[in-house]
Amino acid sequence: MNYLFIIVLLLLNLLVIYHKPRIWLWSLVMLAYFIGVYPLIGTSINLIIYVLLAIITAAAIIFGNIPLLRGLVTRLIYNRAKKILPSISETEQLALDAGDSWWEKDIFQGKPDFNKLHGLQKFTLSQEEQDFLANETNQLCAMVNDWEATHNVKDFLTEVWDFMRTKGFFGLVIKKEFGGKGFSAAAHSEIVMKVATRSSSAAVTVMVPNSLGPGELLYHYGTEEQKNYYLPRLARGEEIPCFALTGPTAGSDATSIPDLGIVCMQEFNGKVTLGVRLQNVDKRYITLAPVATLVGLAFQLKDPDGLLGGVGRVGITCALLPHDHPGLEIGNRLLPLDQIFMNGTVRIKDSFIPMDWVIGGQKMAGEGWRMLVECLSIGRAISLPGCGTANALLSSVTTSAYALVREQFKVPIGSFEGVEEGLGKIGGLTYMMNATRQFTVAAVDSGIRPSVASAIAKYHLTENGRTVLNWAMDIHGGRAIIMGSNNYLGRMYQGVPIAITVEGANIMTRNLMIFGQGAMRCHPYIRKIYESLMQENGLAEFDKAIFGHIGYFAQNKTRALFHAFTAGKFAAGYNSHFNYYYKQITRLSSAAAVVSDMVLIVLNGNIKVKERISARLGDAMSYLYMASATLKYFKDQGEPAADEIFVKWSLENCLYLAQHALVDTLANFSVRPLARFYRFALFPYGLPHSAPSDYLEHKIAKALLSDGETRQQFKRQIYLNPVMDDPVGRMEQAFQAALAAAPVKTKIIQAMRNKLLPKANPAKNAAKALELGVITQEELEKLELSAKYTDEVIQVDEFSPYELGPKNAHPSWSTTN
Ligand SMILES: Cc1cc2nc3c(=O)[nH]c(=O)nc-3n(C[C@H](O)[C@H](O)[C@H](O)COP(=O)(O)OP(=O)(O)OC[C@H]3O[C@@H](n4cnc5c(N)ncnc54)[C@H](O)[C@@H]3O)c2cc1C
Repeated sequence: MNYLFIIVLLLLNLLVIYHKPRIWLWSLVMLAYFIGVYPLIGTSINLIIYVLLAIITAAAIIFGNIPLLRGLVTRLIYNRAKKILPSISETEQLALDAGDSWWEKDIFQGKPDFNKLHGLQKFTLSQEEQDFLANETNQLCAMVNDWEATHNVKDFLTEVWDFMRTKGFFGLVIKKEFGGKGFSAAAHSEIVMKVATRSSSAAVTVMVPNSLGPGELLYHYGTEEQKNYYLPRLARGEEIPCFALTGPTAGSDATSIPDLGIVCMQEFNGKVTLGVRLQNVDKRYITLAPVATLVGLAFQLKDPDGLLGGVGRVGITCALLPHDHPGLEIGNRLLPLDQIFMNGTVRIKDSFIPMDWVIGGQKMAGEGWRMLVECLSIGRAISLPGCGTANALLSSVTTSAYALVREQFKVPIGSFEGVEEGLGKIGGLTYMMNATRQFTVAAVDSGIRPSVASAIAKYHLTENGRTVLNWAMDIHGGRAIIMGSNNYLGRMYQGVPIAITVEGANIMTRNLMIFGQGAMRCHPYIRKIYESLMQENGLAEFDKAIFGHIGYFAQNKTRALFHAFTAGKFAAGYNSHFNYYYKQITRLSSAAAVVSDMVLIVLNGNIKVKERISARLGDAMSYLYMASATLKYFKDQGEPAADEIFVKWSLENCLYLAQHALVDTLANFSVRPLARFYRFALFPYGLPHSAPSDYLEHKIAKALLSDGETRQQFKRQIYLNPVMDDPVGRMEQAFQAALAAAPVKTKIIQAMRNKLLPKANPAKNAAKALELGVITQEELEKLELSAKYTDEVIQVDEFSPYELGPKNAHPSWSTTN
């Protein structure tokens, strides 16, 4: 009876905490329990009952009597916490405040609601957007000869520039009322992505005016006058914009820009005008600067004479300068890794601008950083995830084609297990990346500014783009290493570190931003606790938040342990073929929520310096986010059967990596007893998830090598002109010819097995096979066409020394040739 009493007591505790961690409710239930069971257990454990009753009564008094509790406990914690509160600068605060939280909040709080997931906005394109992709975007891709541009001209041809300007590529997201295309984020992402599959340089050129730059800043913060003047000109391509923030001493730490703007009165156009004297402005890496006609500039505004008069304030400020403004020096180019999008420097030694050149006018003086981070939470969700996915889609399509047509040891290289491994990962990652891209972009189209989700998408899609491209390069071998017009991967490969570095360099994004921002924006109490500590007298709010947090932690912990011990069997799932995976996402996200909370409680403000712990927790969150994106994408696509192996791969990969991120967090957490406890409690039967199996990767490789439905879906999103004078089109033609010839080869091989034909390469036996009636004339032609195309696509470019420039060649070439 005694044991039963204790067991029921424990279960009751778990139940109450699981559902509603209100301390008064808990006390009430406990009292009711004691009163109810007392007559049953008699006097045998009276002492235990008295002690428990005393504890419960004390808890009820303390927790029920808020003023008393505040006096006793909360004040002590509050005062101590105030002393050790980590400093957050105003700029950090602005970054943390920028944007909205979205699906990642469900993940972070450990309680994903999958009905909500499937109710979220779908990725859709209007008819007009689809037409633009099929017409203007394809035309632009056809006009760009990336090799010619990057190797010989070091620029796009004038007609390419004109086409981009006049067809609206620089005004994709400018609203129709200002003469822009008014396209959705979905269309913006698809267009940049398709262009990137043709030329990374062209994609960057299109991307910059449409993301973080004058257009976006003007639209959101510009004065009516500025909008009405500049937006139509930008939309028509009459202005080419750039935005200059980064300088030699301020890169990732962009708020430390030293470029100075001093508020002063000066004569301008014959009138004494309130404005800004720009001094010692030194910017570098500025995309489009060498050709820009409109320069967006960020600088530190100072007001030593107090001329702002209460309108506007000092701090980072953004202004727009015409390219021919006296004192503005632009035009010098920087060459980013053999890409030829325009990139250069912006410098000003000393120059005056009127106050109404400040974006948003005087009232927005000092608001520059907020403006930039708010725009970044949108732009970061679109362009670079699009470029990363472009790498993956093009790699999937071309690498599978090459793996089929390229034979070594008398068989297509795609049939070797080692190559299959690469193909499996390429296919699986491409699927997951495309799903994540669409999911995140749809958030923007639903009116969300997804600050954490955009950081997840930017980091993981550029990093996974690099992984996929590495596999693609390895499978192509020398064919992708030798540069020239035949090489469709080389420049893309060179461009990868650019996407990794811009719009928040990846190491910083992973180590500082994802979990840091996630904790502040998605946790229901951390931010409230922090804000209460920042206040002069925030005890009441602190009290509410801290006990809310305790309840939340207790609830999450109970749920996580319950799901761990029941292996996620009772976790919230979704009525689907993939229900097991839905449940496992719930299980791991509840585990991640508990580990995150434990880390936040123990490390406190030190989480800022414990970047590797923060990075791993961010990884766990990100993989669960991408797993959810995959499930949503699959459902939104109508659950095509052909996609199932790709979905399974993505889910297994995400769950495996999320689990490892948590285990590695615990393995590296300094408070060892706590870490050991959670390691056991969250994974009591060992680690449940393995990496995707060899068999699954084999099936994905097979699906890619046979031009399965999912590969065809990938093909529809890239620029693919199936003609022999286009390098990617040629590879696809060879692939299709090889597929058509495969059954013919099988017939010949069968005839060889039946000893009708001598043992030899099927191609060598073809004429004889025709003679013996093993194959028809039409089949022979298929075989010959495949051999011809294969021979063409395995070739690499050759150059005479003069073509590569005699002036750069070794002196012996110049004299002897
Ligand atoms: C091709 C190209 C185009 C660009 N276009 C523009 C543009 O149009 N306008 C513009 O203003 N800027 C532009 N940039 C600048 C770009 O935004 C910066 O390069 C970027 O912010 C990183 O700065 P950095 O290169 O000086 O690297 P650094 O800041 O020196 O960083 C070096 C490394 O340290 C890491 N790191 C830094 N701080 C931390 C931290 N706290 N925790 C962990 N890791 C950290 C970074 O992640 C990075 O890996 C461009 C850059 C390039 C290369």
